[in-house]
Amino acid sequence: MEIESLVANSALVRAREGGGSKGKSWKWREMLRFPHISQCQDLAMEIERDYYSLCVKQPIGKKLFQLFCRSRPDLQPYMSLQDALDTFETKSDEERKDFGISIIQRFLMRQSGQCVPIVSKHEESCIQSLEADPCTDVFHACREDLHKHLGGESFNQYQDSMFFDRFLQWKMLERQPITKQCFRQYRLLGKGGFGEVWACQVRATGMMYACKKLEKTHVKKRRGEAMALNEKQILEGLDSRFVVNLVYAYETKHALCMVLTMMSGGDLRFHIYNIGEPGLDRKRVRFYAAEVCCGLIHLHRMSILYRDLKPENILLDDNGHIRISDLGLAVKLSEGILVRGRVGTLGYMAPEVINLERYGMSADWWGLGCLIYEMTAGQPPFRAKGEHPKPPEMERRILKEQEEYSNKFSPNMKDLCSLLLSKDPKERLGCQGSGGREIQSHSFFKKINFRMLEAGLVEAPFKPDPRLVYCSDVQDIEEFSSVKGVTLDQTDSNFYTKFNTGKVPVNWQNEIIETGCFRELNIFGPVGSRSPDLDW
Ligand code: ADP
Ligand code: MG
Ligand code: MG
Repeated sequence: MEIESLVANSALVRAREGGGSKGKSWKWREMLRFPHISQCQDLAMEIERDYYSLCVKQPIGKKLFQLFCRSRPDLQPYMSLQDALDTFETKSDEERKDFGISIIQRFLMRQSGQCVPIVSKHEESCIQSLEADPCTDVFHACREDLHKHLGGESFNQYQDSMFFDRFLQWKMLERQPITKQCFRQYRLLGKGGFGEVWACQVRATGMMYACKKLEKTHVKKRRGEAMALNEKQILEGLDSRFVVNLVYAYETKHALCMVLTMMSGGDLRFHIYNIGEPGLDRKRVRFYAAEVCCGLIHLHRMSILYRDLKPENILLDDNGHIRISDLGLAVKLSEGILVRGRVGTLGYMAPEVINLERYGMSADWWGLGCLIYEMTAGQPPFRAKGEHPKPPEMERRILKEQEEYSNKFSPNMKDLCSLLLSKDPKERLGCQGSGGREIQSHSFFKKINFRMLEAGLVEAPFKPDPRLVYCSDVQDIEEFSSVKGVTLDQTDSNFYTKFNTGKVPVNWQNEIIETGCFRELNIFGPVGSRSPDLDW
């Protein structure tokens, strides 16, 4: 490896080790200094007073609302119930029944000293569903009623408290514009169609991210505006542990930037081909396939068709969990309407896409079939090692040829792959009416507990080595060529403004909490004073 690469890698590894706490700038408190509450008045007027958004969905809002509730003795029982319901969700299948019963005995039964009357009417139905299957959402109705109750008078009182003032102060910080100066930049991670992806770190919090840069001149020359905006807008509306998060969108003089979850473990292509013999062991194939399946289900539930499933777009994080990335080709389908369009990468395109037919989510399930095949065989389904067939030949194979299964495939695996690679979308698994759930119940996934997986409670079979950098050496990533003769004008600026929306609230708030900044800064003044401690 060349010295340049070694230096770039070790700088990145060191930053990652400190990432999230030690990586903070020495000026971080100044960067996150609360504005005086008098400066929050406009925001107070315009912010939508919606309980769900302010106290459930936004992580900092949720924390402050809970702090408010805990400061009020009369609300204590509701908080205890909420804590118990949260704990219930972290229990394994075997523990759920007993823990569920203890919740019912403590909070739902009228004879209990801790009974919470607003939910006690659910006692019977909760017992029944716990008996029937403890792995369902047993306390759904209780949680709904709890929120309905807290969202009433308590929510009104919260808005007059110092806790809500503090929320407004955090929201003002959230609104500060984002520039290049907010980040430190580390090594180049990869190259995309419109620009490069770099490792970066937020100076104020120490959090590591990947910054996907789209060169303005490239975007313009190749008319990529709609595509760039589409990717950004789809990403900001998503919230899944199986899809990369967009945390910041901003612009510099030359580029549009999307700051995304840092995926330090590299992409699946790298793992399939660059580490030992091509292919992955069965445990890993099953685990990655299961997580991708959950990610696709999430996208499809939001009516988003992904269309670009292939190993290089599936990335691994520090802990070995995957996320789907690169949503440039994703489309939002409106109410049952199918799309047409030959997009994606030819080797992974479904027959109906190649044939210019109208298609829906079926195209992604075909993609999952290709992915499982490639992870197992160490080569894609319709192309042999080192072979580069011309596009018409590739099309012919996808449309006509039956893929072959070596003895690397177990019978279950082969069965699942061939069901996903059904040429006719009507016959394909995943397209029979209940979507991805059909795939999850295939016997290949018998050992996967999807409830636990979706809650992030399953450990990955392979954990990337924190001292390694899982991507090509810096000098091996082709340099990004510059475009000449493109001038940027007013129409371009209008588009940039639409793109440049700054922080994505939920994800930025999570960063503040995860890096400990919330805990360190969210200090209140002497008890009894209404306003939060402002100057320090
Ligand atoms: P394009 O849309 O142009 O294909 P991608 O989003 O796929 O761009 O990014 C290009 C490459 O950059 C990826 O193949 C991957 O190696 C790297 N990369 C992208 N996003 C991340 C991320 N969040 N973390 C780490 N590396 C990433
Ligand atoms: Mg890509
Ligand atoms: Mg893309």
